[in-house]
Amino acid sequence: MEKRLRLAPSPTGLFHIGTARTALFNWLYAQKIGGKFLIRIEDTDFLRSKSEYTKNILEGLNWLGLKWDEEPVRQSDRISIHKKYIGKLLENGAAYRCFTTEDEIYELREEQKKKGLPPKHDNRHRNLSKEEIEKFISQGRSSVIRFKIDEKIQIKWVDQIRGEINWQGKDLGGDLVLSRRATGYEIGDPLYNLAVVVDDNFMNITHVVRGEDHISNTAKQILIYDALDFKLPTFSHTPLILNSKGKKLSKRDCVTSIDEFRDMGYLPEALANYMAFLGWAPKSADKEILSLEEISEIFELSDINKAGAKFSWEKLNWINSQYIKNMGSIKLSEIMRKYWDDNGWVPPSKEWAYKLAILLRDSMTLLKDSIDQSKPFFLIPKIQKEGQDFLEKKETKASLKLILNHLIEQNTIKLNKERAKEIISEISKMHNVKKGILMKSLRVAFFGSLSGPDLIQSWELFAEIKTDRTRIERCLKSI
Ligand code: GLU
Repeated sequence: MEKRLRLAPSPTGLFHIGTARTALFNWLYAQKIGGKFLIRIEDTDFLRSKSEYTKNILEGLNWLGLKWDEEPVRQSDRISIHKKYIGKLLENGAAYRCFTTEDEIYELREEQKKKGLPPKHDNRHRNLSKEEIEKFISQGRSSVIRFKIDEKIQIKWVDQIRGEINWQGKDLGGDLVLSRRATGYEIGDPLYNLAVVVDDNFMNITHVVRGEDHISNTAKQILIYDALDFKLPTFSHTPLILNSKGKKLSKRDCVTSIDEFRDMGYLPEALANYMAFLGWAPKSADKEILSLEEISEIFELSDINKAGAKFSWEKLNWINSQYIKNMGSIKLSEIMRKYWDDNGWVPPSKEWAYKLAILLRDSMTLLKDSIDQSKPFFLIPKIQKEGQDFLEKKETKASLKLILNHLIEQNTIKLNKERAKEIISEISKMHNVKKGILMKSLRVAFFGSLSGPDLIQSWELFAEIKTDRTRIERCLKSI
């Protein structure tokens, strides 16, 4: 039988890291077992669902490289089918109309609160007679449909992550509401637990992998599966993503939507690699930098931890920097070019751009770092305090003069790394100046400070755009 997994996001907000990780686990497992990864957009909360969120979720999945296998199912297209199944449950006595008003429910809750009890419906309309139902309807009372939950029933399943889970019918909050309020004999809009079961069955889902916040829903859904005589999928409940304080990661932790990670300069491959390790601890992997394909080969649901997974910026940054380091110059320079374009910086040639990408990739953590790090290659930077202090030393001025004269005398037009190194050695020998002093002086001339990327490689790039001499000259003038 074909193995089928799905992500069922509600488009009520931007694509969140929690949903993205659930998607990733589903996708990885689908690849591992040669199954399909499907999408169902659960857009039946008409007040909160927005098409731009659906777009954002699908774009985010694409960006992360999590391709789905079939046209996404839109839950709102299936409302009449959900209602048909609610009708079936009404007919076979598994569900009934409940006319309890909002006020009555409020009163019940208040009473329970006074007694320190959790909210639970008292199933007061479970056994209404035909006449009683007619009377309520003629009074104009609206009704919801409730699914009967036997207080004594034990619900048991073997969770692929958590092992055996037991749930008691009495702990499920009373008979379960399947649909919103409607008047007369109408059936109101179906609610989550009913729609999910009907749609997972329709989509032939064999494995449900979702967040642990759905565990009690699973208990309810298993009862609906049984009542509709549907085949049960296997269930897996993934741990929550926690912040550094051990609380559920939320908007307050700064970044939670996938867009924000992209805009901050994380690579999709790095973010996906990091997310896979958020809660998943493989027995068989000895390295942490793995492509999605490599992870999917060793991915097992049973290797996912039960405990919450702490989000670590440090780890994510490290993984991102590793991906940048290993990136090819063409791909990286294309990414960097977007940042350069935004700033109106134009590289003189493709080759120059490739060289700059290679030069900077070892020191970048985020793609966005390429703005600050590329800037001195496009604009002559201001001389900073430490640079100025260094320039004021006697030997600095002398060093810069020697280098400038050498460049002029030799009429060095084409300067590559090898030649640059030779120049430093030649001047050092000829004038008995330490190479270190020459290099530091040059660094201040190029970058305005004593830090920056490899000097010799930078020199080659500056020489190519004929700004090396200009930079030395402006330093000499400023001393
Ligand atoms: N729409 C639900 C959610 O976003 C789906 C839960 C499920 O996977 O069944 O939480």
